[in-house]
Amino acid sequence: MSVSVFSFLKRPMLMGGVALAMLVSPSGVKADTSQSVTPLSMEMVAPGVYVHVGVHEDPSPGNQGDISNIGFVIGTSGVAVIDSGDNPALGHRLRAAIQGVTDLPILYVINTHMHPDHVLGNVAFRGDDPEYIGHARLAAALADRESFYLNALKSQLGATPAAGAEIIPPTRIVDIGAPVEIDLGGRVLVLTAYPTAHTDNDLTVLDQLTGTLWAGDLIFIERIPSLDGSLLGWIKVLHGLRTLKVARVIPGHGPASADWPQATFAATRYLETLAGDIRAILDRNGSLKEAALSAGQGEKENWVLFEEYNGGNATAGYVELEWE
Ligand SMILES: [Zn+2]
Repeated sequence: MSVSVFSFLKRPMLMGGVALAMLVSPSGVKADTSQSVTPLSMEMVAPGVYVHVGVHEDPSPGNQGDISNIGFVIGTSGVAVIDSGDNPALGHRLRAAIQGVTDLPILYVINTHMHPDHVLGNVAFRGDDPEYIGHARLAAALADRESFYLNALKSQLGATPAAGAEIIPPTRIVDIGAPVEIDLGGRVLVLTAYPTAHTDNDLTVLDQLTGTLWAGDLIFIERIPSLDGSLLGWIKVLHGLRTLKVARVIPGHGPASADWPQATFAATRYLETLAGDIRAILDRNGSLKEAALSAGQGEKENWVLFEEYNGGNATAGYVELEWE
């Protein structure tokens, strides 16, 4: 698929900055500061579909938490944000990028799952009064992890970038087996909730107009998948997704867009390798420690951040599969 880089500065007089005076603080009082917000760089991967690509790193002061793919879709009546970034500052930068492209209202902020790099920018859109939409299990998952996520943000980025961070749960939910359609004017987005896979609250967004699937972290490309749900569940969901007829996918981590269904292959292979290795260890009564050290090692050369995540994935997979 061809990927065009879109210049989003419709209003060059802003020179890359959008006045912060329009931002609204959590108290509802408009903040009036002299700072400006630098819009995130976006790629238009299909007409009206914009993606910002994050780096394959863990959050740090150097990358300002800009580690995941986030973006938006524009219809004739409004905009839907799909994932909001790791912290309020990134959310404000995404909002500034939207304002550089369109004056239409931001009607929806959709979160593909609970992980902080996909939800902690939500607060930046509060002044737009959007519907926040997520999986039926998202609110509970966020509530369980709220203090952990907010403390982690502070320790990763420092107190200043983390200032103003808060959990904003969905105001509208999507149940498993009951997809929700939202109309942006001239285009419909179909939101689908999944059984436990990457997490217990994974959601995809299909733009029917262009056949573009926002897969969230159900699809990792280049960066190693991180398991925070169910190893077997994730494999099953990937096999189901593969049968969808779509033109392209936007992965939660990886390039701005990728061909379908090839985009599913690497993550499926990694997870199936991990499951196979763990089953072999369990069959000979091998230990959790052995699994953590050896399962999945054949995939080592295929992924960025392998050392950082494979051991945790293997541990989680062992605990799941020992009860098979
Ligand atoms: Zn995730």
